Amino acid sequence: MTHPMTHAAGDGEHFDVIVVGSGGGLIGAYAAAARGLRTLVIEKTEHVGGTTAYSGAGIWLPGNAAEVRAGIEGGPEAARPYLDAIVGDDSPVELREAYLQGGVQMIAELEENPHFQHFEWRGVPDYFPEAPGSLKGGRTIFPPEIDRAALGKLEPLVRRPLWTERWGVDAGSTMVGGQALIARALLAFVETGHGTIRTNARFERLIVEDGNVIGVEVTTDAGPTTFFADRGVLLAAGGFEHNRELRQRYQPPMTDEWTSGCAGNTGDALVAGIEVGAATALLDEAWFAPGIIAPDQRAIFFTMVWSGIWVNGAGERFMNERLPYDRAGHELLRNHLASDIAHVPAHWVFDHRQIEQHAFAGTLPVDPQVPDWFDVDRWRDAGVLHQADTLDELAELIGVPAGNLTKTVETFNGFAVAGVDEDFHRGETPWDRVTARMIGPHLDGPNKCLGVIDQPPYYAVQIALTDLGTKGGLVTDGHARVLRPDGSVIGGLYASGNTMAPMSGRVYPGAGAPIGAAMTFSYLAAVDMAATRPARARSEVTR
Ligand SMILES: Cc1cc2nc3c(=O)[nH]c(=O)nc-3n(C[C@H](O)[C@H](O)[C@H](O)COP(=O)(O)OP(=O)(O)OC[C@H]3O[C@@H](n4cnc5c(N)ncnc54)[C@H](O)[C@@H]3O)c2cc1C
Repeated sequence: MTHPMTHAAGDGEHFDVIVVGSGGGLIGAYAAAARGLRTLVIEKTEHVGGTTAYSGAGIWLPGNAAEVRAGIEGGPEAARPYLDAIVGDDSPVELREAYLQGGVQMIAELEENPHFQHFEWRGVPDYFPEAPGSLKGGRTIFPPEIDRAALGKLEPLVRRPLWTERWGVDAGSTMVGGQALIARALLAFVETGHGTIRTNARFERLIVEDGNVIGVEVTTDAGPTTFFADRGVLLAAGGFEHNRELRQRYQPPMTDEWTSGCAGNTGDALVAGIEVGAATALLDEAWFAPGIIAPDQRAIFFTMVWSGIWVNGAGERFMNERLPYDRAGHELLRNHLASDIAHVPAHWVFDHRQIEQHAFAGTLPVDPQVPDWFDVDRWRDAGVLHQADTLDELAELIGVPAGNLTKTVETFNGFAVAGVDEDFHRGETPWDRVTARMIGPHLDGPNKCLGVIDQPPYYAVQIALTDLGTKGGLVTDGHARVLRPDGSVIGGLYASGNTMAPMSGRVYPGAGAPIGAAMTFSYLAAVDMAATRPARARSEVTR
């Protein structure tokens, strides 16, 4: 469907820029259209926004204008040693430099547009406090919320929140997080007067002439069609989290069941890029996260555990359960692969206090319109919550050795009383402490992240390994231009977001790194396309 506020894109029509995917790619689309380039966005699903619309829209961008307004010193340079230390050789330094400089430039430019004013820094600690250059207050900014009504006729176009799509939770009259980011980008894009959006339009493959990408083949409700791009095609079609075959080929085991990524993300752009000779990297990586198995028997992104512990199949603790979600996901996976004992799914064991204070909250939504949302009976009847009067009985219900579970809880209770987690150091990092404040009320005792487990009934739910999307993809340079294995540029082809091999290698530097990268590299692609001569003249160009 072509949106009524934009003109109809006809078969064979020429644009300057084609953007495949409407999540983080929408920022590139806006940046291109704002430069006067005729820009077509192709979106496979009926909604604009992808996983970006589901997200909290934390955006990790060192040294940006919102950070400066908040008095954070050091600029992008201060993050260089941090990224160097945690990313290492897993991605090219050129990408980090492009990200550090391009992110600052992008936010400054977006904030010139009233629709984007003003991003806000909110003090989320960097995820690797042990690395040089890490900031306790972090580098994460958020877009301002927006009234749903402000979107007018565009409103139905925006993808609903994850909880709405999955569980029917009311979407609310105010758009926050990723919804707000996408809404703002959409308003800004349409207002340029140079943008066209096609939803329900599935990109199939790239059209190549003389080694340069010059257009795309697309399937719409009306059948196959082609569009041409005189400056370039940006592949911003997310990862391959919903493509089981690709997952089985590239991803580690234990990760193919659960993802919170948008259903449209089936790796089409990755496959198309490979078809035209692109190099790939880090296809075994994902933005991992623990997931709680909910009454619909599916795991969903869950973090910030308030009380209790996670135990493996032997009834033993094996990690700091408060780790930032991607670190926690990697830790679940690492333990599982390194041992004969099952660590995925793990069992989250807690006592009555958790139910009394929080039910299963953490990052999960609480919907006042659904009174039984966290109703214990509902979770228990669905077989996903186990309840027992003693730890031994609970151990039997979840199939772990009873003596081990009791011993593990006794040891942990000793740590809680002393205030020091001698085994896994829970509660010692800025992230642990900030999240304790965020999800309060405080646990009693000297360490606000450790609470004694001794008030029956005792409970257990399963913690699976989930992801927010896959992470590896097409190799690019710092302009987001897609490269061949020999390092040469595939003319006219760009990639960003989870279609692109990540700037951050195998780590998640801080809250908002995925969207920070998705926005920045789609922006940098637009900047490059604006500086590039049209395709027909491209063979004469020496860069
Ligand atoms: C609950 C949740 C919270 C999160 N919170 C944060 C956060 O606060 N900060 C952060 O940085 N990250 C967060 N993430 C992760 C982040 O949202 C994603 O990694 C990021 O948005 C991916 O952006 P993208 O542009 O690569 O893909 P997407 O936003 O998923 O966009 C890709 C789009 O491409 C479309 N598409 C796919 N194939 C085709 C095709 N063949 N033709 C046309 N269109 C196609 C898809 O339908 C989709 O709309 C969160 C994720 C979840 C699930």
